[in-house]
Formats: sequence, C-alpha cells, structure tokens
Amino acid sequence: MDNFWIDIKEQLKATLPDHAYNTWFEPISLIGHTDNELILEVPNQFFYEWIESHYKNQINNTAQTLAGNNINIKYTVALEKQPTIETTSIVYSNKKSNSYKANLNKRYSFSNFIEGPNNQFARAAALAVASSPGQQTFNPLLIYGGVGLGKTHLLHAIGNHIIDEKESARIIIASSEKFTLDFISSIQKNKTIDFSRTYRKTDVLLIDDIQFFQKKEQTQEQFFHTFNDLYQHGKQIVMTSDRLPSEMKGLTDRLLSRFESGLVVDVQPPDFETRVAILMEKAEQNGLDMPYDMVEFMATHIKSSVRELESTIIRLLAYSSLSNCEIDFELVKKVVRERIGNGAPIDISATDIVKRVAEATKINEKDIVGSSRRRPIAEARQISVYLCREIMGTSLMDIGMHFGGRDHTTILHACRNIEKKIKTDKRIGYLVRSLQQDLTFSLI
Ligand code: ADP
Ligand code: MG
Repeated sequence: MDNFWIDIKEQLKATLPDHAYNTWFEPISLIGHTDNELILEVPNQFFYEWIESHYKNQINNTAQTLAGNNINIKYTVALEKQPTIETTSIVYSNKKSNSYKANLNKRYSFSNFIEGPNNQFARAAALAVASSPGQQTFNPLLIYGGVGLGKTHLLHAIGNHIIDEKESARIIIASSEKFTLDFISSIQKNKTIDFSRTYRKTDVLLIDDIQFFQKKEQTQEQFFHTFNDLYQHGKQIVMTSDRLPSEMKGLTDRLLSRFESGLVVDVQPPDFETRVAILMEKAEQNGLDMPYDMVEFMATHIKSSVRELESTIIRLLAYSSLSNCEIDFELVKKVVRERIGNGAPIDISATDIVKRVAEATKINEKDIVGSSRRRPIAEARQISVYLCREIMGTSLMDIGMHFGGRDHTTILHACRNIEKKIKTDKRIGYLVRSLQQDLTFSLI
C-alpha cells in the first residue's frame, strides 16, 4: 500500500500543475492502510477542506484506476500542526495546561512579518514589548491603523514571542468583543468575580480591536478596572484599534486617557517595495514560483492592504488549480482586474500616456521620451513615467525601454520623486491627479 500511495502521487503529479501538486499533495502523508483503505494525514483543517472540495474526485478516481477496485480514502488532520482559525477567543494559560498554545495563532510571528517604512516603528515597538513586557514607557502599547495592515498579526506575534521566551507566562488574548461577551455572560451567570479574577491574574493582556468598546459603558467600566489593576502590577497591556482613541466616539474620558498614556504607534498601507516583498514571501509560502514581472504588476495594482495582497495570491492559486492551468501573465491580469474592479485601465499604452502628458504640459512628445534635462521636460518625463507605473503597472524595465533605454533605477527614482512632489508641490499634485483621472476615465 505504501507503494500504491506513491503511485497515486506520481499519477497526480503528472496531471496537475507543479505548484498545485507541491502545495496540496507534497504535504500529505500516508499514515495507515488496510487492503482497501488508505488513511492520509493532512496538515490542517483548511487543507482538508480544500482537498475535499477540489481534489477528492481526482484522488478517488486515480486510486480506483490504479487499483482496479474500490479504494476507500480517509483523511485525518494532523493534531499538532493544526492552527487555530479562531483568533478572538480568550486564552488563559497557567502552568498546568498548555491551552494558550491553541489560541495564539502560531502563524503570526515576528519572523514572518515583513517590515517596511509603513510598519517599522510599530514592529519595533511590538518587539520591544515582547522582549521585556511591562516596561513603563511602552505600557500600554496601542497599535492602530486600517484593516488588513497587520495589527492582529503583531498582537499574536507578541504573545508567541513571550511564550517562546518564557513558557509559564500567562497570556490572555481576546478581541474587545470577546471581552464584552465574557463580561455580559458573567453578569448573567452571577460570576463577575470570576471574570475579573481571570482577567486580572494574567501577566499580559492582548486586546484586539478596542474600537468595539465604543458606546458600551459598563464594559468600559469593567475594562477600566482590569486595566488599572494590571497596570499597577506592572503587567503588559497591548491593544489594537482601527482608529485613534481620540477619534472613538462614546468612550469615557478616563478610558481614553488610559489608552493614550503609553505608546501609540500606527501601521500604514505598504509602499511599493514592501508590497513586492510581501507578495514574494506569500507566494513562496504557498509554493508558488512567480516571475518578478508578475509580482511587480500585482504590487502596482493591489495597494490597499496586506490582506488584499495575500488573498490575490490565494485567488491565483485557486484559479490555476481549478482550471488546471499554469500561472501566466494573462491569469495574473485576470485576477488583478477582478480584484480592483472592471474598467481597470490595464490596456492603455505608454504612448497614450505620453501623448496626454504632452497635451497637458505643452511639451513635445519626442522631448518627453528624449534625453533633454531641461527642467520642464524632465518633469514631464517623470510624470509620464510615474503614470505608466501607476496606471498600467508596467515593469520598471519596460518603462525604461520606452523612455529612451533608461535603466530601472532611473525609472524608480523618477517615480519616487513624483510621489514626493505630489505631496509637497500643489501644482504637480493637481496635474498628476487630473491626468490620472482623465486617463483612467477614458478607459472605462
Ligand atoms: P489587521 O488586524 O490590521 O486588520 P491582520 O493582522 O489580520 O490585519 O493582517 C491581515 C493579513 O495580512 C494576515 O494574514 C497577516 O498575516 C498578513 N500581514 C499583514 N501585515 C503583514 C506583514 N507586514 N508581513 C507579512 N504578513 C502580513
Ligand atoms: Mg485585526
């Protein structure tokens, strides 16, 4: 039967795209069998569901064809490696149990958190707190920023790091909603004392998404006391929020001042280079070998959040597995288009852009792609380059080719320069924005 499983894998390998095979079949192991039954172990529940919904028939058919009779295939999920998808539940660890391990999401660590100028400070603060929890200057630590930018990731990374350093550390990680629900249910069950005891016995309190505390006065009151108690005992508190405490409505003043009393750090959307780095990392994690120009294309168009980047990769993988095709530029374009909405102006050419910039700046098209360094000309060129990149997502090298064979560092420099000027120079900001809108609009 061992060989039989190897045969099945061989067969699947021959029929599936490499990355699909590597992602979904390489990690499966045969852990038991009888004459007409195979027991396969998959790394986690998600994996199981994926196999079940996408490959079950293919596996069964292959087995049957090879064996010539009916083979029953059973799956089990590997226990140890099973990640918790539930990230909001309370974890309370004590020396007797290791239950915390199930609740801190092990996938979120500092080592797989990609750093960029957008999150550098937040990451450093989180790491400092994780290395020596309870230090006054960093207590509480509040991480705020938009959705999908890594706040929850950092929160779990802190917990994981602390547990790695000191196994007996007591950690509670909960969303503010969970805190609220626990509190309410403790009132219903007449167990508010147990509730506060549990929360106040922890060494580290990690609370995700405190914006949900808004307008819940009783819960805030409860949290205020928990907070004070922990703080006075030098216990670390880390919170995340999608906005600044001062922007939260319905928050009592004293809680607001507690939230702001420590260190407040923000996470911003990733810049281009960070997006590239994140995509490459996520692709690798998923066993995808993506050519650089595709990565660059995706990084140019998918900008809003890391979660979006991640799900684009997963989409790609899903598409190519389902339709059994290799990932090529067409597929990447299709997925990207889908994610940023139809009418995305991907088909416009560099010539169109230069033409439009020439009209707007009254500078000759030939000059724009030429070599003159006169200031207005160089500026029009840089704007064109910037727009090529923003609107078309062309690779730096290709843009370079279009603009008289300039190398990619020159092109990158031009993009950066305009990026900066948009913010500091009103005239350029206005010009670029209106050109961008114009060009985009004309294509919808
Ligand atoms: P938030 O809590 O800010 O809404 P999450 O922490 O849930 O965002 O992040 C969304 C997804 O993006 C997660 O899968 C997370 O691992 C990933 N992610 C976010 N930032 C980074 C980063 N800097 N490096 C690697 N992965 C990241
Ligand atoms: Mg979150």
